[in-house]
Order: sequence, then structure tokens, then C-alpha cells
Amino acid sequence: MKAHLIKCSYSDPDRSALKEAGRALREGKIVVFPTETVYGVGANALDQNACEEIFRIKNRPQDNPLIVHVSSYEMAESVCTLDPGIRKGLSHFWPGPLTIIAPSGAAICKAARAGLPTVGVRFPSAPVARMLIEEAGVPIAAPSANISTRPSITDPAHALEEFSGKVDFVIASGKSPLGIESTVIDLTSKGIRLLRAGSTPVEDLEKVFGDIEVTEAARGVATEERPLSPGTKYLHYSPMTPLYLVAEEQMKSMGHDPRFSEYVFICSSQAGQGITNRKIVLGSDSDLSAVASRLFSALRELDSMGARGGFIHMFPEHGIGLAIGNRIRKASRPLTGEILATLVRS
Ligand code: AMP
Ligand code: MG
Repeated sequence: MKAHLIKCSYSDPDRSALKEAGRALREGKIVVFPTETVYGVGANALDQNACEEIFRIKNRPQDNPLIVHVSSYEMAESVCTLDPGIRKGLSHFWPGPLTIIAPSGAAICKAARAGLPTVGVRFPSAPVARMLIEEAGVPIAAPSANISTRPSITDPAHALEEFSGKVDFVIASGKSPLGIESTVIDLTSKGIRLLRAGSTPVEDLEKVFGDIEVTEAARGVATEERPLSPGTKYLHYSPMTPLYLVAEEQMKSMGHDPRFSEYVFICSSQAGQGITNRKIVLGSDSDLSAVASRLFSALRELDSMGARGGFIHMFPEHGIGLAIGNRIRKASRPLTGEILATLVRS
């Protein structure tokens, strides 16, 4: 089966172009679609078979729940229990890149929740995604549109490459504007906990909701034995090419060392100034939104360059930088002295 490709404007979509894909979703088919964060692979969240199909297509571990996307507050309230105080606070962030974990409504199928009593809910801001959900008329369970462990997808060409033979429709609306997934917060415990750093900065959430507990797992530093959010324990975002995390200063000296001429340096424009080996510049470390929007496509670009490996450095971890740091840590492994010695020898 070759996916039906629908090219559609992101901000001013033609409703008639989305009608058929909306109906297909409602009837149990699978659709890859754009959001403001990354591309998602969607199914009717009320349909157990359709949601199980998403796990098969992505090769996703069974215990990692999907995020349910809605096109209105009314739909959100049919999907989960929303405390009135939280609902008021949410109006600062919804529609937008924020997912809440709340007690699930009865209609959400078990597969979408991975059997949990809670559900992840998000009201996206991308006009094309909202219109598609409206056309479907049902909430849409949609994890990021990538095979599990691979980098998320922000470019429709990559979505077609990875999913063309596996889904019914691919909606292409150009590059994802934000480029990093939604922030996930847990509302089911006392106080609010950050489960995954994402495109909504924690600093902004704290202005509205007060203190938010930021776990090490949310920063991508440690893997707990019993993770709060199932997704945080798995290998994530990995390019096929080995990617090593190095300090920016170390990268600057390696960047013009001929022993690393077969490697690619993924870096800020500042660090990139002294790098004469091959490099992918993500953007200025004072413009973290630009860095976020380029990160996942850079990880996939690395795989197309035929390099022996890649090096990346951390960016300032404030605002969206917390999410950038999380994705970089998870996509790479630290360059130890031992690894460096083997790279230089081989
Ligand atoms: P993805 O959409 O593939 O980028 O991942 C969705 C993220 O949301 C994963 O980290 C999930 O583990 C998390 N998530 C979704 N639903 C729940 C839930 N009910 N409880 C905790 N985490 C959730
Ligand atoms: Mg994902």
C-alpha cells in the first residue's frame, strides 16, 4: 500500500482536502499529519484496533502510551477529567505544544493509554492539525511519526520515506515550525511534575501554575527504575551514525584536526566558526528556537552524509534549551577518553 499524499497549507488549509483523511481516521485508518511540534502518526483514539496498528507500525513498546490530540476544550473534556483551576491555567498554553496527563475518560481505548488509568491530552495549535481532527470528529491518538528509537520527523520528505508503505495518508505541510515535541506535565499527583521537557518552556508554565518538579529523567540525565512516564526509559532519537557528546571547547579543537575529517560536527554558529571539518550548523546559541527547529532534521542529515560518526555539544539549558538538552543527551553518548582513543586508532 502506497500512502495517499495530500499537500496542504499549514496555516490556511483547504478543508475539502482534509475531508477524506478525516473520514479515514474516524473509520480506523492511519494518517501521518503535521503539527506545530513534529509530524505525528494518528489513529482514532476510541478505536482499539487502529491504535494497536500504530504500535505495530512504529515498533513502539506496548507500555508507552500515545498522546490524544483534540480540536477543542469540549473534546478535551470528553477525553479526560479537567480540574476547573487547571482548565483556566491551560488557556495560556492551549492550543499549543503542551500535553497534560489527567484521569482518562471511559471512551479512550486501552491501547492509546497503554492500559493506564490516565491519558495524555494535547490541543495542538497547527491549523492543519486542528482542521483534520475536526473533520475526523473524534480525538486522535498520535505519537511522533518516526519508527521507535529514530529521530522524530520535522520534514515531510522524511515522513514519506519512513511511512509511505505503512499508512493510508500522509499530509505534507512543509517543515514543522517548532521542531521539538510537546512538554508533558503530570496533573495526577500532588503538585505538577514535568515528565518530558518540550516546546513549552518550564519557566512559562511556572508563571501560571507555580512550582513544577523537574525530574532528572525529564532532563534526559538519568533513567529511573520505575519511570513516571513510560517513554522516558527507552532509547530515543538516535541517528544510525554513532553520535558522541563533547564539550564545546573540545569540539573546537577537534573541528580542525585532520584525524576527524571523516566525522561531522553538529554545532552552534559560534562553535562552528573554527571548524574546518564537515559540519552542520544548528544556529546561534542565543537563538534556541532556531536550534530546536533544526535539531531532528540535522540528526537525519547526519545519516545521509556517509560519515564515520558525529559530534555534538550541549546548548544553554534554559527555556526551550531544556528540551534541546534532553534530546541531545538521548540521541548521543558521551565521548569518553576510551572511545576517543579507539576513534583515533581506527
Ligand atoms: P511521543 O508522542 O511518541 O513523542 O511520546 C509521548 C510521550 O507522552 C511519551 O513519553 C509517553 O510516555 C508520554 N505519555 C503519554 N501518555 C501518558 C500517560 N498516560 N502517563 C504518562 N506518560 C504518558
Ligand atoms: Mg516520540
